Amino acid sequence: MKPMERNPKIRQADLPSLKIIRYPDPRLREVSTPVEEIDNHVRRLADRMFALMLAAKGVGLAAPQVGVTVRLFVTSPTFQEQDRRVYVNPELISLDGQQEDEEGCLSFPGITSKIKRGHVATIRATNLDGQTFQETGEGLTARVFQHEMDHINGRLLIDRMGSVARLSHRRALADLEEQFAAAKPAR
Ligand code: ZN
Repeated sequence: MKPMERNPKIRQADLPSLKIIRYPDPRLREVSTPVEEIDNHVRRLADRMFALMLAAKGVGLAAPQVGVTVRLFVTSPTFQEQDRRVYVNPELISLDGQQEDEEGCLSFPGITSKIKRGHVATIRATNLDGQTFQETGEGLTARVFQHEMDHINGRLLIDRMGSVARLSHRRALADLEEQFAAAKPAR
């Protein structure tokens, strides 16, 4: 019998063909599963996600947004390669204070909304060397942490919007739903 391979979702992903998926793709609603081992497959996935995020001018991207539903996200608050950060199996440890600001999502192109978030967020995660670390972010960094944590738990921007904001974006959301339905391969 062959031993079970670790990280099957990552091994099965065809990295060059990954792209950022959009609402209402049902993979965005899955609760992602833990990364079982830090290996070169995980490092290559992070590289690919980082390239996609920078090309799309995003400050954060979670693995489920490229259709790989594992608990991993990448950020670069300055859009720069040298500020690249990778968070594997992140956990939100604490939230303090409040902020409200415009927030967007690469899976909801063209939509931004004022969203309330904690002002200071502390997370614990594993890096690509397999070491556990803790990091506290404020303002935008704290917002990105909370947004990406939402993604790996299957929660989306629209869940955080008030009903008025959601109503004001109903046309854009309906457009995304139509595009998704049209892009589905015929059976
Ligand atoms: Zn997002």
